[in-house]
Amino acid sequence: MNHAERRSRLAERLVALEAEAFLVTRLPNVRYLTGFTGSNAQLLLAVDRAFFFTDGRYAEQSAHEVPDLRREIYTAEFAPVFHRLRRELGVGRVAFESAGVTYKTYLSLQDGSELVPTTEEVERLRWVKTAEEIGHLEAAQSRADDAFDDVTARLAEGMTELEAALELDTAMRRAGAEGLAFDTIVAFGENAAEPHHHPTPRPLRRGDVVKMDFGCVVAGYHSDMTRTVAFGRPDPRLEEIYEVVRRAQQAGVDAVRVGAGGGEVDKVARDVIAEAGYGEHYTHSLGHGVGLEVHEGPTLRSGGKDLLPEHAVVTVEPGIYVGGLGGVRIEDMVEVTAEGSRVLPRTTKDLVVL
Ligand code: ZN
Ligand code: ZN
Repeated sequence: MNHAERRSRLAERLVALEAEAFLVTRLPNVRYLTGFTGSNAQLLLAVDRAFFFTDGRYAEQSAHEVPDLRREIYTAEFAPVFHRLRRELGVGRVAFESAGVTYKTYLSLQDGSELVPTTEEVERLRWVKTAEEIGHLEAAQSRADDAFDDVTARLAEGMTELEAALELDTAMRRAGAEGLAFDTIVAFGENAAEPHHHPTPRPLRRGDVVKMDFGCVVAGYHSDMTRTVAFGRPDPRLEEIYEVVRRAQQAGVDAVRVGAGGGEVDKVARDVIAEAGYGEHYTHSLGHGVGLEVHEGPTLRSGGKDLLPEHAVVTVEPGIYVGGLGGVRIEDMVEVTAEGSRVLPRTTKDLVVL
């Protein structure tokens, strides 16, 4: 599906939204609809026309990336040029992204136009990935798998979390990542009890678990994987916890299929952990969509109503965290397929004892 086709799918929504035009301001959405990769841009879409806006820094880049749209390059404020183009189009009711404007911007867009708030209009189009998009996600994940192999071979007693995170970041870049999907999480031993631990100078010791959550960006698409390995034999309680998380994660992967509800898949994995007696130690949602953003829809969470469409890509990432002891999380990206689900990472989920 090319950018023009994506834009016409959004334009088809105008009738239902009772709007004459759609103003897209969330950058990943602008990228999805135009191919523009810079850091500031807007798109104003009417039924038969679309205008692309950016500032002077991107005049040259946008000429290459968005050759098929009329481009409006501004130097300072977006609002005046928006109003000029809106009047040129002759539209009054303009749909906008509630999650994509500040209150200040909202006020500046009001002058003479009637603004219609919307939520997740472009995001929902993005849930379903094309073969090309899935190829980018696979490429990003494959580089992360390479980096994991690289770093687990380098882990050594006395290495700090910060050093291990730097090794992972470097390995991902060396493997061909154009960027990192998010700040790499490396947690040793008792620090693994924090789901989103920020790496510290804590050194690696025998018997520690090593929890690593990391991802690459390729062609704007993010990967997201967590593995927990053991540096020497861990505490037997952590071995037991590992097996519970492993079973919960597999149950979650197996529950992913076309039409399944996010809440339903979350519950399948959550029940495995609860039945093993660790329910209170699992404190987050099961997973989220991944694509142009590392966290997008559909969401797998308790009570969640999102339904999984074919070719959505979501994470399945249960964890158990015990203060003072440590924690385990296992996370894969999986594609929703007609048959069920397809796991993207090739990295093993068996407990690796280094
Ligand atoms: Zn993650
Ligand atoms: Zn994740």
